[in-house]
Amino acid sequence: MSHVLRPSASIGLLGLALLARASASQAQTHVDANYPIHDRSRPQPAVVDPGTASSQETPGRAPADAVVLFDGHDLSRWRQQDGSPARWKLGHDYFEVVPGTGYLYSRDAFGDCQLHVEFTEPDPARGEDQDRGNSGVFLQGLYEVQVLDSYRSPTYPDGQAAAVYGQFPPLVNASRAPGRWQSYDIIFHGPRFDAAGHLTRAARMSVLHNGVLVQDDVELTGPTGHHQRPPYAAGSGKLPLALQDHGNPVRYRNIWVRELPDSDGR
Ligand code: MG
Repeated sequence: MSHVLRPSASIGLLGLALLARASASQAQTHVDANYPIHDRSRPQPAVVDPGTASSQETPGRAPADAVVLFDGHDLSRWRQQDGSPARWKLGHDYFEVVPGTGYLYSRDAFGDCQLHVEFTEPDPARGEDQDRGNSGVFLQGLYEVQVLDSYRSPTYPDGQAAAVYGQFPPLVNASRAPGRWQSYDIIFHGPRFDAAGHLTRAARMSVLHNGVLVQDDVELTGPTGHHQRPPYAAGSGKLPLALQDHGNPVRYRNIWVRELPDSDGR
């Protein structure tokens, strides 16, 4: 659960100054008035080895501060819905949906985060429309970024690859051909609820598909669904990621996540 710092009437000016210092390393969406412009005494951002980009042949290396959920070797960071070990097929540097085994869930739970995931669609392609390479990346197990073979294969726009399923079509179709590795880079801010369980802030998401911006800070109506847009339900600030078994042998590799600090009121 994220801890939101809220100044109270009793906290005093010193407390406010300390709060400003405490939050200096967190994500900010407004200029911090506590620091003059170009203040060299301001805390330096942490140094992070950014890792390496992937090629079609070789998966890249995650940034140093990421939680690596799959590095090509094992599925120990994943489980079936009932908690049993992951039953999807492990290959060389990748794993593959085994139709009928069910969704995979990360063993760890995440709130606001940056998520990198790579996938490839079955080659040769089989099926059409929603039955062509369908899977999905579910933030908090609730909010699906659609995985589908949308390369020269039409379906309804809010269900094609990189759609926020049933809510937002991607801005463009940046799909690669079946058999080619593709990537999603997702920036997710989960919903917030007050003590009574009422929504105070909707979930938001940005997505780059193969490096192309396809979702630009969209505001979700609630969990994604098929022929439905269910309302938000108050819950934990952190929940597992999920990958969808939709009956198609989609492959995944190089999955990592960076947890994001709470941001000021977004
Ligand atoms: Mg799907």
